[in-house]
Amino acid sequence: MRSQHQRLAALRTSLEASGLDGLLVTALPNIRYLTGFSGSSALLVVTPSEAVFLTDFRYATQAPEEVGDAAHVVIDGSSLWKRLWEILPELEVESLAFESAHMTHADTQRLFDAAKGGGKWEWRPSVNLVETLREQKDQSEIDAITAAVSVAEIALERTIAQVEVGQTELEIAGILECELRAAGSESHPFEVIVASGPRSALPHARASERIIRPDEFLLIDFGAVVRGYCSDITRTFAVASASPEMQEIHDIVREANASASGGVRAGMRGRDADALARGYIQRRGWGEAFGHSLGHGIGLEVHEAPRLAKTADAPLPQGAVVTIEPGIYRPGWGGVRIEDDVLLTREGPQVLTAFSRDLMVIG
Ligand code: ZN
Ligand code: ZN
Repeated sequence: MRSQHQRLAALRTSLEASGLDGLLVTALPNIRYLTGFSGSSALLVVTPSEAVFLTDFRYATQAPEEVGDAAHVVIDGSSLWKRLWEILPELEVESLAFESAHMTHADTQRLFDAAKGGGKWEWRPSVNLVETLREQKDQSEIDAITAAVSVAEIALERTIAQVEVGQTELEIAGILECELRAAGSESHPFEVIVASGPRSALPHARASERIIRPDEFLLIDFGAVVRGYCSDITRTFAVASASPEMQEIHDIVREANASASGGVRAGMRGRDADALARGYIQRRGWGEAFGHSLGHGIGLEVHEAPRLAKTADAPLPQGAVVTIEPGIYRPGWGGVRIEDDVLLTREGPQVLTAFSRDLMVIG
């Protein structure tokens, strides 16, 4: 609970720096970060002296338990927005920010209509106020992500032991989802990707009814969720046997992964981290076949700040957990991606994923 108070204090500092009296938080991951609430319906108003949390009747028991004394909890039986208009005048604020990246046009319209109807506050758009705080993980967050990595690795280990030539990608995805649950994953942070043969060249392939065959790649990209925090891992396997060509491409991606995982540092710009892997793949002649960015932050969401990409100028903060996921994709032939989760400490990168990066032959 102490961490929620620290997070609210950090938000107040950045509100003050932005000249804002308060923030209406509508993004659920941001609300969870600031209050601990894990439900699906809530609003949160944070001012220099108050934090008011609104939710509905379904969470009448859960909300006070999770939020505790981090915010004043209001349970409303009818409309959170109407209740908000009653509460705001009591907070004596002049300019309130809203999260413009997380509001529908209709909800934004409500804000301006309510202000016109006699409210004395002025609404101002804001972006990334809470997301920026979320980049730097505290120990409880690092512990949850580490646990999510471990759950994912246990599930992957158990899954590959059950893979057989003749299964479909969907069957393998089903085994993996079952093993993730059995190992303790609360949900799937995104749809499990199981892509075999030529489909492994599609960086975001969903599992299909394609039957896996010998001497082709099987790419598996998935994650686990523990205490709300995600892991995100990719490994690419060879089914039954590996040709020298498959081994060669896999080796290049593994080396690219190793140079970025070992070389990434807090304080480095996202683009320079990206270049660690991209430069290696380019030197090996496959630059055109690595078309996506190197990685992204993980936390309460599986894709969050910071970005590790050719266009990312922002420095990577100490305490961020980021993915390192270079790949080579040859349309019609197949693709390889190796994705690890890396904590950026003051002493350097700490790779949280321990699963083998060798080309393992399975099935
Ligand atoms: Zn992934
Ligand atoms: Zn990823």
